[in-house]
Amino acid sequence: MTDLYDYNTLLQRVRENLPEKISTRERFEIPKAEVIHEGKNTIIRNFMDIVKRIDRDPVHVYKYLMRELGTAGNIQERRLVLKGRISPSLIQNRIENYVRTYVICYECGSPDTELRKEGRVEILVCKACGAIRPVHAKIDVRLGRMVLEEGKVYNMDIVDMSRDGDGISKYGDYTVYVPGTKKGEKAKVKIIKIKKNVAFGTKVD
Ligand SMILES: [Zn+2]
Repeated sequence: MTDLYDYNTLLQRVRENLPEKISTRERFEIPKAEVIHEGKNTIIRNFMDIVKRIDRDPVHVYKYLMRELGTAGNIQERRLVLKGRISPSLIQNRIENYVRTYVICYECGSPDTELRKEGRVEILVCKACGAIRPVHAKIDVRLGRMVLEEGKVYNMDIVDMSRDGDGISKYGDYTVYVPGTKKGEKAKVKIIKIKKNVAFGTKVD
């Protein structure tokens, strides 16, 4: 028997009912960083403009950039001052990664989203289409769906059990088998092997 109300069916129904405006929305342009070098420092002159444009918390963006660029720095009025000479293209790349991870909705591509925190997990909620996803989830931009990576750890809900007694989790289009877990459990799962839409993981603490 087919489940008429499975996730994909619901998703399709939501898409069909979207107003024209959203489905034909113009592509959001990621702001360009104005980067200059001053002595041993690198300065993003329009840092606060970028933050305002993407509507995120300046400190959140700042911390991400420090981590991804492996440097220290501080916000000075509209500017972000970074230690060391960092290439403008590298900075632009990291800003684009931030926007893809923390701003753009993976379902409809809208930048009209909200970043929320549920416990330790950051959740991206789309105001345009209602899609919700944890932000640690990597999205295949080309396919527009969530992708798992071997060797990485994910927070997963065990939603079912296999005939062999392994816990089963769902992640995007993947079915993930996790031995030693039980239905209803929340587990940290390290992905060991991926074969098409099936993945095998182990529970980690
Ligand atoms: Zn959306």
